[in-house]
Amino acid sequence: MRSSARVFDVIVIGAGPVGSNVAAMVAKEGYRVAVIDRHKENERPAKCGALVTPRVLDLVDAKMTVMNHIRGAVVCSPGGREVVVDGRETKAVVLDREAFENQLITKARDNGAECLFGATARAARRTATGKVEVSVHGVDDPGYLSCRILVGADGTAGGVPGWFSMSKPKKMLLGCEQTMSGVDCDERFVKLFLGRDFAPGFFGWIIPGGGIARVGLCVERGNVRANLKKMMMKPAVRKCIGRAEPVQYSAGRIPIGFPQKTCAQNIMVVGDAACQVKATSGGGIFTGLLSSTICAETAIKALEKEDFSAKMMRTYHRGWMKRIGKELKRDLAIHDSFSRLTDRQLEDLIRLLDKPHIIDMVQQFGDIDFPSKVGWRLVREEPRLLKYAGNALRILLRRGG
Ligand SMILES: Cc1cc2nc3c(=O)[nH]c(=O)nc-3n(C[C@H](O)[C@H](O)[C@H](O)COP(=O)(O)OP(=O)(O)OC[C@H]3O[C@@H](n4cnc5c(N)ncnc54)[C@H](O)[C@@H]3O)c2cc1C
Repeated sequence: MRSSARVFDVIVIGAGPVGSNVAAMVAKEGYRVAVIDRHKENERPAKCGALVTPRVLDLVDAKMTVMNHIRGAVVCSPGGREVVVDGRETKAVVLDREAFENQLITKARDNGAECLFGATARAARRTATGKVEVSVHGVDDPGYLSCRILVGADGTAGGVPGWFSMSKPKKMLLGCEQTMSGVDCDERFVKLFLGRDFAPGFFGWIIPGGGIARVGLCVERGNVRANLKKMMMKPAVRKCIGRAEPVQYSAGRIPIGFPQKTCAQNIMVVGDAACQVKATSGGGIFTGLLSSTICAETAIKALEKEDFSAKMMRTYHRGWMKRIGKELKRDLAIHDSFSRLTDRQLEDLIRLLDKPHIIDMVQQFGDIDFPSKVGWRLVREEPRLLKYAGNALRILLRRGG
C-alpha cells in the first residue's frame, strides 16, 4: 500500500540564497516548511561571485561572510583608456559565496524548516482540494509532497515558472568566473573591461576578494570559457593576472527580462526564477533577497488568513514591483542600449565620461543597485551621451517608467 504524501504549509524549490531566505522567514513563524534542492548539501557546485551592496547585509545576517570591501571601479575601454571612479567609502562588499549560502540554509534549518537535499522537483500541479502536489525524485514513497503554497526559487532551471505559465526570460546571458590567487590589483577597486571581441553585449571584470580575485565575464552568445581566455590575453588583464594561479572555475546563466507574472493561485516565483536580476550588471542577489522577504511576508499573511487565492498572491507581485520594478525596467533598457554599442562607440562613450565633473557625479550618485539614478543625471550633464542612450532614454523620460 502506498503511503500518503507529507503535507507542508510551504514548499520552497531551490536552496539558493533566495529560497533559503523565504524558508527561514516562514519557518520562523512556526509554519511547516520544506526546502528542496536537487544537489546534495556538501556537493553543491561552485557558484559565481557575490559582489553586492551593503544593503544585502541589512536584509540577511551574513556579515561574517564578507571577504573584502570595495570603494570604486576602474573601467577599461576597448582601446586601453582607464577611468577611475572612487566612491571614497565602502560601496560594495565581496562575499564568500559558499559561506553565504551555508549561512542562509543553516538559518532556515535552525528556524525549523526541513531541508531536503539531493531531491529534484519534477513537476507540480494544483489539486481539487486547493493544495499543490509536487512530484519529487529523491524522497521516500510516494515520491511526492503536498503543500498549500509553492515557492519557485529554482533559479534559471525554468521548472516552476514553466509549470505554471509564468514569465520567461527575454534572453539568457552566459557568465563564468575563474577564481585566482596572486592577482596583482588594488583590493579596493573592481576592474571592468569593455570589448566586443571577448564580451559581446556585456563586460568582463576582476573582483578582488581579499587574497583571491574572481576574473570573469558575461556574454550574450558564444563560448563563454573561450571568451574568458580571450579576455585574459588582453594586455590590461594580463598585467593583473600575469603571475596568478587558477583556483576554481564556475559558470552559470543570467536571466534577463522584465517579469510580468510572478504569482498565481497557491504559487509564487522569486529570485532568478522570476528574472529579478539587474540587467546592467547581472547581479541578482540583492533584488532576489529583497523580493524573497516580500514573498515570505505574503506567504505568512496567506497562511494566517487561509487565503491562497491569486488575489492574495498578487500582494507579493505588487510589493516587489513597488520596490524595484521601475529600476529593473530601466536597467533592461540601459542594457538594451549598451549591448548594441560597437567598440568604437564604447571608446567614445568612455572618452565622454572621462571628465572630472562627470566622474565626480558618478562617485557621488553611482549605485549598483539603482544605476538609472546616475544615468539620468549624466545625460543631463553631458548631452552628447544622448546618442548612446537609445531605448534607455525613452524609458527614463517616460513618466513613472
Ligand atoms: C558569472 C556570474 C556572476 C555573478 N555574479 C554576481 C554578483 O557578483 N552579484 C550578484 O548579486 N549576483 C551575481 N550573479 C547572479 C547570482 O548568482 C544569482 O542572481 C543568484 O544566485 C540567484 O539566487 P537564487 O536563489 O534565485 O537562484 P540560485 O542561486 O540559482 O539557486 C537555485 C537553486 O535551485 C535548485 N534547483 C533548480 N531546479 C531544481 C529542481 N527542479 N528541484 C530541486 N532544486 C532545484 C538549484 O540546485 C539551486 O541550488 C552572478 C551570476 C553569474 C552566472
